[in-house]
Amino acid sequence: MRAQDSERAGGSGTTTVRAVLFDRDGTLVHDVPYNTDPALVAPVDGAREVLDELRRTGIRVGVVSNQSGIARGLITPAQLDAVNGRVDELLGPFGTWQVCPHASADACACRKPAPGLVLAAAAALGVEPSECVVVGDIGADVGAALAAGARAVLVPTPVTRAEEVAHAREHAMVAPDLHAAVALALEPANLGVPA
Ligand SMILES: [Mg+2]
Ligand SMILES: [Zn+2]
Repeated sequence: MRAQDSERAGGSGTTTVRAVLFDRDGTLVHDVPYNTDPALVAPVDGAREVLDELRRTGIRVGVVSNQSGIARGLITPAQLDAVNGRVDELLGPFGTWQVCPHASADACACRKPAPGLVLAAAAALGVEPSECVVVGDIGADVGAALAAGARAVLVPTPVTRAEEVAHAREHAMVAPDLHAAVALALEPANLGVPA
């Protein structure tokens, strides 16, 4: 690491992105709330291509996903495995899957915007959190990334709240789709000292 990189505000400075961690629902696949049916898994446009390009360039990919349907009894662990298995079939392989099964009332350390899933994914991939970029569709994804010392790109959907977009514009990055998100995250200008 070069000297000036370690001086970047927020402690997230590094010129290397070694992993991109994706939210699942509303980011890699179209959101089907509390989905229990693998047949309903539908990747968003471009997801396969973006992931393949990252793999080709040697950047690790992972999934970080809140699944409170488990805690709430709306999804069984077997159903979650089946749905994640379908995501893997369509978009895998991923270097790591990190899933929070808790509800917000559980006050766990892993439910985004807590940093636990991002920290666990980085550890599983053998990279530093500061070498990770989290791509997600809501403020909790951005919050988890920043809390972990990672960078974040928000890719809003029609359900993303305006204040979440505004927060991401100020504290992270915003892109219209996955291609643009990854391009933005890997842009040299966004990897050095912030403007
Ligand atoms: Mg999401
Ligand atoms: Zn959790």
